[in-house]
Amino acid sequence: MKDVNCSYCGNEEALAAFGVFACELEYSNLYVFKEQSHLGRVIVAYKDHVDDFTDLNEEERNGFFRDINNVSTCLKKLYNPTKVNYGMYNDKGHHLHCHLVPKYENDPFEFGTTFEMNPKRKFATEEELAKLVEELVNGLK
Ligand SMILES: [Zn+2]
Repeated sequence: MKDVNCSYCGNEEALAAFGVFACELEYSNLYVFKEQSHLGRVIVAYKDHVDDFTDLNEEERNGFFRDINNVSTCLKKLYNPTKVNYGMYNDKGHHLHCHLVPKYENDPFEFGTTFEMNPKRKFATEEELAKLVEELVNGLK
């Protein structure tokens, strides 16, 4: 099931406003967030247009969270954050996804507090985005 207006269902214009596709996971797709105030910030979006993880069966839900777990483990190996924050907000969108936001104690920006959805502080260049995608794709192998 797809929604043509949805960033995670193939609407490239909508996606380009905030992210780039990195790779397919078993139950999800991985996107790199263009705003990189928190190095390694990514989004894991479920492969289908479902509203909430409560709409999935147990196998699908476990698969989705396994994907999130694998990506988080990869982020920790690659960038050594102090913590990874997770955000699942869907008030206006209706496609299940999770923000993974690495936090670094040596960077005081938003450490110890909730991350802003889009602080518009540090946007990655095309080269930086390509490097992040490559590191993640290789790290997840
Ligand atoms: Zn969708």
